[in-house]
Amino acid sequence: MSDDEVVLKIDHLTKYFSVRKSFLQALSRSASQMVHAVDDVSFEVKKGEVFGLAGESGSGKTTVVRTALMLTRPTSGSILFKGQDISRMSQRMLKKYRPKIQIVFQDPYESVNPRMTIFEIVSEGLYVNRLVSSRAEAIDKVTKALRDVQLTPPEEYINRHPHELSGGQRQRVAIARALVLDPEIVLADEPVSMLDVSIRAEVINVLLAIRQKRGISILMVTHDLALSKDVVDELAIMYVGKIVEKGPAQQVVSIPYHPYTHALTAAVPVPDPEAPKVRVLAKGEIPTNISPPSGCRFHPRCPFAQAVCAEKEPPLEEVAPGRFAACHFSKEVHEAFSKGLDGPVGSNAAF
Ligand code: SF4
Repeated sequence: MSDDEVVLKIDHLTKYFSVRKSFLQALSRSASQMVHAVDDVSFEVKKGEVFGLAGESGSGKTTVVRTALMLTRPTSGSILFKGQDISRMSQRMLKKYRPKIQIVFQDPYESVNPRMTIFEIVSEGLYVNRLVSSRAEAIDKVTKALRDVQLTPPEEYINRHPHELSGGQRQRVAIARALVLDPEIVLADEPVSMLDVSIRAEVINVLLAIRQKRGISILMVTHDLALSKDVVDELAIMYVGKIVEKGPAQQVVSIPYHPYTHALTAAVPVPDPEAPKVRVLAKGEIPTNISPPSGCRFHPRCPFAQAVCAEKEPPLEEVAPGRFAACHFSKEVHEAFSKGLDGPVGSNAAF
């Protein structure tokens, strides 16, 4: 298996949800509105890679994950797992692929059943997917998974209940539950955002160690760009359902080609009381996905916006080797940020 092998390919994925009509709207027979949750999104996750999806709430990143898991069907586009289009498969055919694509949810307090023991939680998928033929085999697999998430010795945890564990330990149980099925990719939806800051690094290190040991791929959803810079290989930034920038995480976070990425990076708090205050560089709020702005969806908030931005949608295109951005003025934007400016060259137009 080559390291360049694509494990998950999201190809022109679009997901719209219809908004439930009120009683009066139903009477007036007004056309139903659609939420453009994900709009023509494409990316690939290679074997052993950590691919990050970042953006504010409402950007569509969680919908991408839910659709990639086939918890909801795409409106259009496809989801290919190792070349097989799982978005066209029946539930019966999908069963074969479910163990290979696993998820770790954001909240370890809600994602594990408090009445079950750790053994029951971690082994449940083995029985559901008929991957073991005896209890001894299940114990063996659960023990290995607990060891991999560094809950050791596993015998000490196996008969405990979730309330006896800390938040970080519960999230490790959730990771073990995914791992025990021997997945090829784990979708981690903000896996540490509900945890105490002091234990976030530990849980991230567990995920990275597993990636190293088992060669699995990770699709990590996050709004934490500081974390992305250190942990993620390839990073895509989403805004109102679209990818606006994509490239190697270190480069994307250091000097972006898209003003929205810059606004996100500038908003990252620095743990230094002497450091300048957090700068907020995108004016206003993220717009609704029901009627996204015309042209470039970021134009009402963008310090670089010009007339064309409201009229013409910029395509996501390669602007430098391995770097992609959806901005009519990506070169000028990059140049300004390279010079430490927050707005167009010559204006230093900070908000
Ligand atoms: Fe800003 Fe225009 Fe680029 Fe959109 S296309 S990010 S509005 S400069």
